Amino acid sequence: MALSIEINREVCMGSGNCSFWAPAVFDLDDDGVAIVLDPAGDSEDKVILAAQGCPTQAIAVFRDGDKIV
Ligand code: SF4
Repeated sequence: MALSIEINREVCMGSGNCSFWAPAVFDLDDDGVAIVLDPAGDSEDKVILAAQGCPTQAIAVFRDGDKIV
């Protein structure tokens, strides 16, 4: 089952780390805030690395409803 991903737009500082680690999953919108393009766009490992690498912990990742990051 695919991961589900939530971005806290109030907390995101637009660093772009997430789109560096998982470019098919994350992008920055016109306001410079991260968005999810496709939760299954990159491997789960990349999504998890991207979430763990967020400097403001703005990314939450869930598998089967359980928060894993
Ligand atoms: S890594 Fe975190 S702070 Fe940086 S753009 Fe992504 S969600 Fe925003």
